[in-house]
Amino acid sequence: MLPLPVFDYHRPRTLAEAVALLATLGDRARVLAGGTDLLPNMKHGLVEPDHLVSIGRIEELRGLALAPATASAPERLVVGAGVRLGELADSLLARRVAPALAEAAASVGGPHHRAMGTLGGNVCLDTRCRYYNQTHFWRKALGYCLKKDGTACHVVKGGQNCVAAASNDTAPALVALGADLEILGAAGARTVAARDFYTADGLRNTVLAPGEIVVRVALPVAVRRRSAFEKLRRRGAIDFPLLSVAAVVDRDEAGAIARVDVVVSALGARPRRLRAAQDVAPGSDPAVVIASVAAAARRECKPLTNLDEDAEWRRDMVPVVVKRALVRALAQG
Ligand SMILES: Cc1cc2nc3c(=O)[nH]c(=O)nc-3n(C[C@H](O)[C@H](O)[C@H](O)COP(=O)(O)OP(=O)(O)OC[C@H]3O[C@@H](n4cnc5c(N)ncnc54)[C@H](O)[C@@H]3O)c2cc1C
Ligand code: SF4
Repeated sequence: MLPLPVFDYHRPRTLAEAVALLATLGDRARVLAGGTDLLPNMKHGLVEPDHLVSIGRIEELRGLALAPATASAPERLVVGAGVRLGELADSLLARRVAPALAEAAASVGGPHHRAMGTLGGNVCLDTRCRYYNQTHFWRKALGYCLKKDGTACHVVKGGQNCVAAASNDTAPALVALGADLEILGAAGARTVAARDFYTADGLRNTVLAPGEIVVRVALPVAVRRRSAFEKLRRRGAIDFPLLSVAAVVDRDEAGAIARVDVVVSALGARPRRLRAAQDVAPGSDPAVVIASVAAAARRECKPLTNLDEDAEWRRDMVPVVVKRALVRALAQG
């Protein structure tokens, strides 16, 4: 068993205390939520903080409820960053108004990960790569890589950018559902659309500034919106995604298709919105939409060798998984 390195542990009770602590400790500190990813990464020597600031006791990060429409915003589902994935997955409210998000949460890891892991931790999950998520011994034998301690990428030979994969299942669902992330740091509060939160940089793939905390997630609720999440993984009971897909379909009053959004993830560092889905014309025939978006998805998505499993096979599976998600989103009444 790999030992955890030594660190100082802080347990603030309020958001204000946590933000102040993080500002004081700077680069030497990391936010600790459920710890289901951060702690294994520390054991592997991938991150080496001197301080962990646990946000587990902070009440302001809890809660899962509908917020009524205002003059400037529609009705929203608001989920605290500290909400456990299991709670989100089991929430009847989330399953009714944002099934893709609840299904994504339900597909994370195994029961223990969902019991401990939080929505905020999932949103902020580090990117993953077969050459990075390894022990120090393993990485040293290979000569390390750009993301940690080395100078070369083993996925793109000669590449100067890290293309490790976004592996957080809730991310494609949040992007497809048009969620906003509320963030707090020493410089104040800000709101960032999930669509703009992720960057193509596998070294650090979010726009979160050092010391900032994701406080909650808010997503618009629409009466005629349907959504679904599908995932490809080795073992249905536990694994990270080899591909994940969230599909959202808005219907008009007559029940015809008004808008489609499909987001594919676990390819590169950020989830990818399929152009073919955004181009679907209102009133399109559902069967044509499923066939054309699935076929275009294979052209748009090019899985790399950043994850275990053959990249060509993953590419062949893109239209299959996209189709599964669209069929389910379109089948909902
Ligand atoms: C065997 C195994 C299988 C897994 N399978 C999956 C899977 O299938 N899908 C998947 O998505 N994940 C998977 N995970 C990863 C992990 O369990 C989940 O992503 C989980 O949601 C992480 O949440 P956490 O609360 O435990 O985050 P932590 O581990 O506590 O934190 C993760 C990162 O987010 C930062 N962070 C946490 N909360 C906040 C916040 N509110 N604001 C700012 N930064 C924050 C931390 O500093 C850290 O960098 C797996 C992990 C393991 C060990
Ligand atoms: S994509 Fe390249 S640089 Fe990034 S973690 Fe993998 S091997 Fe390292």
